[in-house]
Amino acid sequence: MTYDPDNVFARILRDEIPSDRVYEDDEFIAFRDIAPAAPVHVVVIPRGEPATSPDGLGEADAGMVGRLVVTATRIAREQGLAERGYRLVMNCGEDAGQTVPHLHLHILGGRVLGALG
Ligand code: AMP
Repeated sequence: MTYDPDNVFARILRDEIPSDRVYEDDEFIAFRDIAPAAPVHVVVIPRGEPATSPDGLGEADAGMVGRLVVTATRIAREQGLAERGYRLVMNCGEDAGQTVPHLHLHILGGRVLGALG
């Protein structure tokens, strides 16, 4: 899928719409989800124009995706989730309910999350 530069996360990156940022570095930003599915729900996204979904990733993205996961674990710890645990989720496409076509990783925690599915 071609990257849509007007998707909501691209607009957050350009500060065209506000976000409650909890972390940023040269490669990623993280902000609180506007419709939280758990007491702590943070979305971590790469800057720039990444793949629109996990399905668009290739070998060249392996380092970035690794750093994305490691960064998310650091944020989860900062958010106080490390002791009790949390879930990292990457939705891919329609059946998974993906709504924003910019690669992203959800951090969910702060309650018992229940079964997958
Ligand atoms: P996904 O369903 O995996 O595509 O995740 C996209 C997430 O972005 C959803 O959980 C939305 O609630 C969230 N979202 C959409 N717009 C915003 C926004 N303006 N600020 C923060 N989160 C948003």
